[in-house]
Amino acid sequence: MAETNTECIFCRIAAGEIPAERLVADEASLAFMDIGPLAEGHVLLVPREHYETLDDMPAETAGAMLRHLPALVRAVQTATGCQGVNVLQNNGRVAHQVVPHVHFHVIPRDEGDAFAFNWPAGSYAEGRMAELAEQIRSHMPE
Ligand code: AMP
Ligand code: ZN
Repeated sequence: MAETNTECIFCRIAAGEIPAERLVADEASLAFMDIGPLAEGHVLLVPREHYETLDDMPAETAGAMLRHLPALVRAVQTATGCQGVNVLQNNGRVAHQVVPHVHFHVIPRDEGDAFAFNWPAGSYAEGRMAELAEQIRSHMPE
């Protein structure tokens, strides 16, 4: 679903109806300061058009937004002096998506900071990785 959704907070920011501290604003995308930062300098990059999740987005629209990501990461790093950055994109409630309009978080990281997540790396039974890879490949466009 593209265009705008009048109920959506990020569409309303894109339309200028809700204030935001903007960092990037072009025809396809917007970046602004996150109002509830996980660390100081936490920013969000969003498409202007309303797509709920990344899988809904046409590649060209996603590309037009994501081209800003390297510069945004560099600017956040330089401005905050952080030691590292997480780029996080949540899709769906189960993945902690609260605002149903695609957004990429750029989160400054420092040794001993408050943000943490569990990374329960597992392993595959013999043959399972290749089997899954084949299934995923079969759903990729040519
Ligand atoms: P998520 O959990 O991935 O959906 O993240 C949504 C993010 O949007 C959170 O980090 C919020 O702090 C942020 N957010 C919500 N409303 C606003 C707003 N009006 N301006 C800036 N950031 C916002
Ligand atoms: Zn929206």
